[in-house]
Amino acid sequence: MLKNKVALITGAGSGIGRATALLFTKNGASVVVADIDEKAGKQTVAAIKRAKGKAIFVKTDTSLPVDCKNAVDQTIAEYKKLDIAVNNAGIGGQQAKTGNYDLAEWEKVISINLSGVFYGMHYQLPAMVKNKGGVVVNMASILGAVGTAMSPAYVSAKHGVIGLTKASALEYAKKNIRINAVGPGYIQTPLVKENLNKKQLKELESLHPMGRLGQPEEIAELLLWLCSEKSSFVTGSYYNADGGYLAQ
Ligand code: NAD
Repeated sequence: MLKNKVALITGAGSGIGRATALLFTKNGASVVVADIDEKAGKQTVAAIKRAKGKAIFVKTDTSLPVDCKNAVDQTIAEYKKLDIAVNNAGIGGQQAKTGNYDLAEWEKVISINLSGVFYGMHYQLPAMVKNKGGVVVNMASILGAVGTAMSPAYVSAKHGVIGLTKASALEYAKKNIRINAVGPGYIQTPLVKENLNKKQLKELESLHPMGRLGQPEEIAELLLWLCSEKSSFVTGSYYNADGGYLAQ
């Protein structure tokens, strides 16, 4: 579905980003794995190469504009163009009430989860205009549509990602560039597993009408569709894969 396409995926060292990088390369894309964690990013590249796919690693901190520019520059240096960008890198951040939330932590979560998506698109979109087309998918969350207590920065950033996605989609709709956001429910990745104990995990499962958490591969499939020609009339939208969470 992505034959001859070049995809830049941030946060592809783990979880949803890694599953997406693997699925995209299985579908013919060449992938740039952009992650702050060099070891994890290189492991993703090694897994892709074992499966006979094409990928390179570019160390990237998406909260730094200079790194986001470098990721695009390296993509073009290696593969000559940029067709697809998945702005997926994100962190969970502190769990605390707004009145107790650490101010530096607020800045950190916003700078990675929201500004990082803006910095990414700021450099990706001109490259796509040059390429006469492209597709961007930004990683939001169900928490881009509804709130949850104790994560004010995360919830704010994810709501922001959906607004930013709509604004940019309108700006580039006539340039053959589609821009969408996705909103997973809770997915079994280190981001969730490392922050919760068994009891909390059980409680989380019960919040999903399907009675379980999602798998990273289930989000990768949605991303594949959104980044392929199969979704050619879809732009400015926000798609959930959440086991029914938001239907309640
Ligand atoms: P994860 O922790 O498994 O992977 C995140 C990856 O991003 C890691 O490889 C990490 O090194 C990288 N990263 C972190 N900060 C970075 C930075 N500043 N620059 C570049 N890379 C950075 O997490 P995941 O669950 O796969 O989450 C991926 C995205 O999906 C995030 O944006 C997250 O908010 C979103 N999301 C996750 C869930 C979930 O339940 N896991 C649900 C909804 C949305």
